Amino acid sequence: MTHHDPHSHVAADRRIGAHVSAAGGLDKAIERAAAIGANCVQVFSGSPRVWARSPLEKVDTAKVFSKQQELSINPIFTHTIYLTNVASDNPNLVQKSAEVLKYDLQFDSLVKGSGVVVHLGSHQGRGWEAVKDQTARVISEVLQNTPDDSHLLIENSAGQQGKLCSDLSEVRWLFDAVKSTRLRWCLDTCHAWCAGLSLGKVGRDGQKTAIEVIEELDLADKLTLVHVNDSRDPFASGRDRHANLGDGEIPPAELAYFLTHPFIKDKPLVLEVPGIEGDGPDAENIQRLRTLAGLGK
Ligand SMILES: [Zn+2]
Ligand SMILES: [Zn+2]
Repeated sequence: MTHHDPHSHVAADRRIGAHVSAAGGLDKAIERAAAIGANCVQVFSGSPRVWARSPLEKVDTAKVFSKQQELSINPIFTHTIYLTNVASDNPNLVQKSAEVLKYDLQFDSLVKGSGVVVHLGSHQGRGWEAVKDQTARVISEVLQNTPDDSHLLIENSAGQQGKLCSDLSEVRWLFDAVKSTRLRWCLDTCHAWCAGLSLGKVGRDGQKTAIEVIEELDLADKLTLVHVNDSRDPFASGRDRHANLGDGEIPPAELAYFLTHPFIKDKPLVLEVPGIEGDGPDAENIQRLRTLAGLGK
C-alpha cells in the first residue's frame, strides 16, 4: 500500500475472535485464539456446567497480560455459565446465579476484560411481566457489589423455553430500570434470527429487521459485542443451535449486511460455532467471518 486509506485502516483493526477453551489457564486460551487467526477472545472463567469456581488468586494475570501483548489479543470477554437464572422462582438458584455473576465480574476486572456475557435465564412460563422486577433487582445488586471497571453484557436469546431477552424491548427495559453504565448487551446473530429478526436490509414475514429494532429502541450505543453464529434452524424457529458460518440457514448476504452496517461495523465479533472438525471455532470460520465482514483474505 502506498498511502493510508483511513477506512481500510479501521477495518484492518477490526476485532474478530472466538470462544475458546481456557483449560490450563487464560494465557492458554490466548494462545488458542492466536493459533486460529483471532485477535480477540471469549472464555468461560471455569467449567460452564458446574457452579464451583477456583479462587481468583490462582489467575496469573502477569502471564495473561504478557501473552496478550505478545500475541496482540484484545479484548477479552468472559461468558457466564449456563446454569444461571436470575428470574427463577427458586430463591436458592437466584442467589447462586448472583454469586457466580459476581465472581465473573471480579474475574473480568482482574484480567482487564471488556465484559461478562450473561444469559439471564428463563421466566419458566410465568412471562416477562412476572419476572422483570426481580431480574432488574438482582442485576442491580450484583453490580453494586462488584468492581466499577467490570461490565455485564445481557445476551439476547432465541426465546426457547421462556428464555428472557429474545424480545429486545426487554433489554431496553432492563437498561432503563437498572440505570448503570456498567450494564450493556451482546447480540447473538443465531439467537436474533431464530427469534424472528432478519439480519438483512428487509424484514421477513412482515417483521422488523434487527437493525430497525436496534434503532427504534436506541440500543446501538449500548452494544458491546456481537456473537456471530449461523443457525441450524429456520427463521423464527425459537431454537438455539449454532452452525458454522455459511453452513446454516442464515443467508450469508444477510449476515454480511448486518456486520458491515454502521451500527455494527466497529463492534468486536466473536464466533461460537461448532467448527469444521466439531471442536469449536477454527481458522476456517475466522476466515469466513473476515470475508463476511468485508475484510477479505
Ligand atoms: Zn452467544
Ligand atoms: Zn446460542
